[in-house]
Amino acid sequence: MSHAVIQADKSSLAEMKAHYQEHLKNNPPQYASFAAKLGKVTITAYQSGKVVFQGEGAESEASKWGKLAASDDETSSSQSSSLPADFAKWSIIGSDEVGTGSYFGPLTVCAAYVDKEQIPLLKELGVKDSKNLTDSQITSIAKDLISFLPYSLLKVMPEKYNSIQRRMSQGKMKAVLHNQALIHVLNKINPKRPEAILIDQFELPSTYKKHISDQDQQVLDQVYFETKGESRHIAVAAASIIARYAFLDSLDQMSQKAGFKIPSGANKEADIAAAKLLKKGGLSLLGQYAKLHFANTEKAQELLK
Ligand code: MN
Repeated sequence: MSHAVIQADKSSLAEMKAHYQEHLKNNPPQYASFAAKLGKVTITAYQSGKVVFQGEGAESEASKWGKLAASDDETSSSQSSSLPADFAKWSIIGSDEVGTGSYFGPLTVCAAYVDKEQIPLLKELGVKDSKNLTDSQITSIAKDLISFLPYSLLKVMPEKYNSIQRRMSQGKMKAVLHNQALIHVLNKINPKRPEAILIDQFELPSTYKKHISDQDQQVLDQVYFETKGESRHIAVAAASIIARYAFLDSLDQMSQKAGFKIPSGANKEADIAAAKLLKKGGLSLLGQYAKLHFANTEKAQELLK
């Protein structure tokens, strides 16, 4: 039987859990941080950070995260990068998405161009991995960034997301959105060309290429894919901050509309908020707030029984 093991740090573990949100098993084994079943692959993550992939296709599923294997912390993560040595100093477009692991709120994708001359300014403004920033820092930095950076922000609100998701996997949806955002930014900065493009990796590059193969225009020239892209180039960190700001802002607006807090993530708190919305207006109301294909929908329905 195919089998692969990788070692992940805490934040990667959280990212993986969010990634497999729709496929989580209800009864993870003892000492497991989570367990998921995706097609024929069973994924078990332990609190030690060890993640075990078993079953047909295990290696290819693990390879999505393969770069994590060598990286227990930020300092060692740079060693496993396949990027050119001085890549962090290039003028590039970075892109990232937010909201894929959150039951409530939109899926947001942002691409942003950062000229190498602007890198010191971005550092000054506090741009770094958004996982190390508070929500209010993200909001204020994002507002600065959108005032001068060439960027494209695509926001798919839940209602639209749910209708697209019926005919398209989340992976394909993300790939198509990244490709569109990149086209927009390339057009904005034309005739200038970036030295490269870095997409924060969410699937195998070969899968990404397959996902955008039916698009009229495919941005693939000088495109790199890296996990932890935010730590590879500040353009990805900037794109990530803008995407997260848009996501948080939508959650705020949803909370105002609902009259109670619409939480981020996909935990018990989400189930409870979903149950309230279901009680008030059924699936059609919930579908204006949430990504209905997540397991939270069923859990909320259970809560109402
Ligand atoms: Mn990302």
